[in-house]
Amino acid sequence: MPAVLGVRVAGAVRRAADTVGTLDLLVVTERPAQVAEELPRSPAVVRVLERRDDVVRVLAASGSPADLWLAAPGAAGGTLLAATGSPAHLAALRVRAGAGSGGLPAGRTEGEVYAALGLPLIPPELREGAEAIAAAAAGALPRLVDVADLRRDLHEHSDWSRDGRDGLERIAAAAAARGLAYVAVTDHAEDLAINGMSRDAVRARRAALAEVQARHPQVRLLDAAELNIGLDGGLDYDPEFLLAFDLCVASVHSHMDRPVAVQTDRILAAIASPAVTVIGHPTGRILGHRPGYAIELEAIAQAAAATGTALEVNGSPRRLDLSAEMVRIALGAGATLALSSDAHAVGELDYLHNAVATARRGWATPRDVLNTRAATLVGRRA
Ligand SMILES: [Zn+2]
Ligand SMILES: [Zn+2]
Repeated sequence: MPAVLGVRVAGAVRRAADTVGTLDLLVVTERPAQVAEELPRSPAVVRVLERRDDVVRVLAASGSPADLWLAAPGAAGGTLLAATGSPAHLAALRVRAGAGSGGLPAGRTEGEVYAALGLPLIPPELREGAEAIAAAAAGALPRLVDVADLRRDLHEHSDWSRDGRDGLERIAAAAAARGLAYVAVTDHAEDLAINGMSRDAVRARRAALAEVQARHPQVRLLDAAELNIGLDGGLDYDPEFLLAFDLCVASVHSHMDRPVAVQTDRILAAIASPAVTVIGHPTGRILGHRPGYAIELEAIAQAAAATGTALEVNGSPRRLDLSAEMVRIALGAGATLALSSDAHAVGELDYLHNAVATARRGWATPRDVLNTRAATLVGRRA
């Protein structure tokens, strides 16, 4: 639309919330009335649901309700801040401004609005309440981990475990195109009855990896596996066989209804294995489908810290596991995170962004993340 000067994603999507009810978009325009009038003709809009002041609520072609916040360039910063929320963060900013229920200072950029309140820009992922405001006022905001800090993905499936849809060649090319220096190909291990790799399959895949590796020298393919943590904490294969892998992720895929002590003990047993570098999707939650199984996260995080095992933040949009709240607890106990896509097709390598966003909501810095570190530190523990 010619009257639209720019569009920015706002709202819960920008804050990287686990789930999102409404899409919020900032629409920068000098002619809000014209934009509102022309919106119903956009192919992205099914129909206009409501118009209030300078917010137009539409049903988007994707099936989601979307609030379009119309703002002139000079007010775009204040409107982007309002459209991003959260309501609790905005309320705390109003208290700081002494604005009561009134408006916050205007601004062309969000930085201008925060500066008028005597604050540095607060990253959207931290805008959930007053805590980040206090940290910002004290000059104590962390430098959050960023996608650009990551050169490695530590959890990716190929068609060798059949639930992955792409072959090694495509994975290598896609990882190289994304600028990844390393990708760990973590096909399922043999105890997963439906599609785990037998020992012969592991050996055959190892040979195939070496062939593909020779054609893609710019990306290192790690010969890796996603192991299954048994009810007693046991793992697939045997210790000697496991140590031949470059890297192992170990995850719970069965018996998720056991009491907290049982779940905690089996994960602690996996952490104690020298073959295990990462605990995958540590709670097993599936958003909108099942809560995570019960674990004593602090005990797990302390053991992970003591052994140098990383706890995963799984970037699958169905999982986001650990959650942001659990990331904070894990970091408080000294644990290191592994940010992973758990991609089952090369397009899903971008799920790494969800893992980064969730880690940012949990106040994670580059120092807290295994896959920001030098390559020699990634892989099987000594
Ligand atoms: Zn898994
Ligand atoms: Zn997986």
